Amino acid sequence: MSYCVNCGVELDASLRECPLCHTPVINPNETGKNTPASPYPVNKGQVEIVRRKDLGILLAVVLTTTGATCLLLNLLVFNHSLWSLLVIGICICLFVFTFPMVYYSKTPLYVSLLADGVAVAVYLYMIAYLTPSSDWFWELGLPIVALVTMGMEVFTFLAKEIPFTILSGALCLFIEIPLFCAALELMIRRMILKPLLLTWSAVVLTVCVIIDVALITILVKKRLRNEVRRRLHF
Ligand SMILES: [Zn+2]
Repeated sequence: MSYCVNCGVELDASLRECPLCHTPVINPNETGKNTPASPYPVNKGQVEIVRRKDLGILLAVVLTTTGATCLLLNLLVFNHSLWSLLVIGICICLFVFTFPMVYYSKTPLYVSLLADGVAVAVYLYMIAYLTPSSDWFWELGLPIVALVTMGMEVFTFLAKEIPFTILSGALCLFIEIPLFCAALELMIRRMILKPLLLTWSAVVLTVCVIIDVALITILVKKRLRNEVRRRLHF
């Protein structure tokens, strides 16, 4: 066992200098001999990176198997209703959602968002088709999906067209949220045959207007903007 001549810390036989004070370790008995190999690994290990193609194959296999096995279970065992269509629909939706990430990364964002919206709308329509009443789909389901898709498209457009920061992104979001809430409330009221008024969504609208005014003030005043960025670390 050896110790550092400078600070007295206990040293491993493989060390060539003290890990604390970096004083070189010289053993007069071992001068000229090879120093023992370091007990620590020299090369950093790295796991092979998963290729996107392999991930795509895995996803396609899992989704196809899920759909096919549920269909068989539906046809052969629990055949009182076409419940497996709901599972197959979810698999198709998942495939559409993950398509730009896993299969073709060059898909334009507008197109993939539109495809997501269409997939969800078709899925909801299928549920409406399998259930006795489909009024909810035309009066609420489809308009909500259309509104959310449109909101995301607008958000994407703004993020590309204007210099996008967390503050301006938050501003876009707090403009879109109350508009969505107001539209949602009007649609629900129309569906349950009540007068078209804003109640709870008016509260959301008020809160969001206050936040929007504050955000616009911060964005316009450079000193305020810099101070907020400095304090929130962005
Ligand atoms: Zn030392």
